[in-house]
Amino acid sequence: MTEYAVTPPALTSVAISGTTSRFPVRRVFCVGRNYADHAREMGGNPDREPPFFFSKPADAVVPAAGVLPYPPLTADLHHEMELVIAIGKEGKTIASEKALDFVWGYGVGVDLTRRDLQATAKKLSRPWDWAKGFDASAPMSEIKKVSDIGHPTSGRIWLSVNGEVRQQGDLGDMIWPVPDIISYVSQAVTLKPGDLIFSGTPAGVGALQPGDKVAGGVEGVADFSFEVGPQGGR
Ligand code: MN
Repeated sequence: MTEYAVTPPALTSVAISGTTSRFPVRRVFCVGRNYADHAREMGGNPDREPPFFFSKPADAVVPAAGVLPYPPLTADLHHEMELVIAIGKEGKTIASEKALDFVWGYGVGVDLTRRDLQATAKKLSRPWDWAKGFDASAPMSEIKKVSDIGHPTSGRIWLSVNGEVRQQGDLGDMIWPVPDIISYVSQAVTLKPGDLIFSGTPAGVGALQPGDKVAGGVEGVADFSFEVGPQGGR
């Protein structure tokens, strides 16, 4: 048996609806921009340009429940409500027509973003990592199996803060639908079981404050609610 010099990291995993077994997280990929109305609100091009991607650490994934920490180094923590694709099969250079065979299930989550750090990174042509990949930056719901819910192609996607709806769209409004996203990611890297893909957010992103109560969901998939903790707290 391998001896490790320090305690090996625990594997991050996500609850699965209707079972005690869990979905192990390998990597977290995120689509930069996948709804035309959000592309517009960020000052970008809403046309069908090829998608771009960034990553979060696997252990950024936490349950979207209870109290989540307000992260350090920001005064502008933004919510981005997203459908999350859970990959169940290894593949590369996957054709869109075959892509759904690689999906194990779906969840919903928030691509939490330190928007002020992202704005600085954009301006200075620096990486986005510090804006996107911090502790607990990928809260998500439990995962629903494809065998239970199929492949959602339409349905309301929404997020509310303190009971007020901030983000609302429809999965059918994605610029690049799920099969195309999977195909694109798999041209760049080999997808493997345990990979998660956050598929982009509709318009209405905005700031969260400590104490805010956040709820979100995708019709036919899952929903969640959590509270934002104090900055510097846990
Ligand atoms: Mn996002």
